[in-house]
Amino acid sequence: MRFPLDLDYEEWRKLCTEEWNEPSFRADQICGWLYAKRIFNFDEMTNLSMALRKKAEETFSSALPEAVRQVVSKRDGTAKFLWALQDAEQIESVLLTQEGRTTACISTQVGCPLGCVFCATGQSGFVRNLTCGEIVGQFLAMEKMQGGPIDNLVFMGMGEPFLNLDAFLKAVRILKHPKMRNFGSRRMTVSTAGIVPGILALAEANLGIRLAVSLHAPDDELRKKLMPVTQKYPMDQLLSAIRFYQEKTNDRVSIEYLLIGGVNDSPNHAKALAERLKGLKSFVNLIPWNSTGILYRKPAPVRIEQFRQVLLSKGIETEVRRERGEDIDAACGQLRRKEEGRNRPVSGTAQE
Ligand code: SAH
Ligand code: SF4
Repeated sequence: MRFPLDLDYEEWRKLCTEEWNEPSFRADQICGWLYAKRIFNFDEMTNLSMALRKKAEETFSSALPEAVRQVVSKRDGTAKFLWALQDAEQIESVLLTQEGRTTACISTQVGCPLGCVFCATGQSGFVRNLTCGEIVGQFLAMEKMQGGPIDNLVFMGMGEPFLNLDAFLKAVRILKHPKMRNFGSRRMTVSTAGIVPGILALAEANLGIRLAVSLHAPDDELRKKLMPVTQKYPMDQLLSAIRFYQEKTNDRVSIEYLLIGGVNDSPNHAKALAERLKGLKSFVNLIPWNSTGILYRKPAPVRIEQFRQVLLSKGIETEVRRERGEDIDAACGQLRRKEEGRNRPVSGTAQE
């Protein structure tokens, strides 16, 4: 069986004209149902003939991932979804609402092979890559559930997008295609742990989406301890790739810097970070570490403020990311890990 959200526009056209002997505008009609009307059941696509609907139903299996759990934060309305995929693997997505704007945070892999020590996903290992349809499906399922379009999309859920490059790039192309979801590329951001070939490929792909790089330390020695991927791609190489990206796209790059109490949050770390970012058009997001119950502690508020002040004094734009959904374990990977500890996932949607 095929999966409808795996097909890009050209593939729909080809399927309609070459396999189904239909006019090519059928592709536009089907994409319109899927991506604009959020109708995923071919039987409801009323401008297609009965025969074509039947053929489509025989060709494709269901489009969306199934919601196993939905948890909504009582504090700030952040919603977290746990989805079951067709092989029963589970992934997470988060939907944030801030000042009336919604942002979806979606996953690109089941687990993650990079093993960052502060990350619940990294600590639970790697299972497999998501397909393009499973990536796009998280986004559309959340739009369907909230009954309208989502404003922003970040690829910052479970997994490393650039280790699943082809599916990730295809998902972006599908979402931005005018005949498909027609989602503005400036509203999409991909976050990478620093996979150099992926950054170079994104620069070449010229898709217009924004890039965020998780740095989390100002030097290789400390970064290696937190993010083993540093052994493969040391910071010099990583920063050159970011510079290349910037030359190609002229885009400001977001630098994600997780603050972990007593580990990487001193004023000296901030000075060293500012030094490393010299000459780069960047914006530093300071993220207080969200506890995953493993060995670390949160940074003290005074240290966060000091860190921010040092960066500002060096002319680096920065902001502390407000903690969201802390009461629902919204740091990626946490809900799935909890769920693994339960007996069996419950089908349907449970609100807490
Ligand atoms: N693999 C990519 C994208 C997914 S992780 C990457 O690492 O960039 C998305 C972001 O969540 C990263 O910046 C990561 O460092 C951060 N993160 C992971 N664990 C966290 C935690 N416990 N608290 C806060 N942020 C966390
Ligand atoms: Fe993977 Fe990103 Fe978590 Fe590191 S922080 S383990 S790269 S998901």
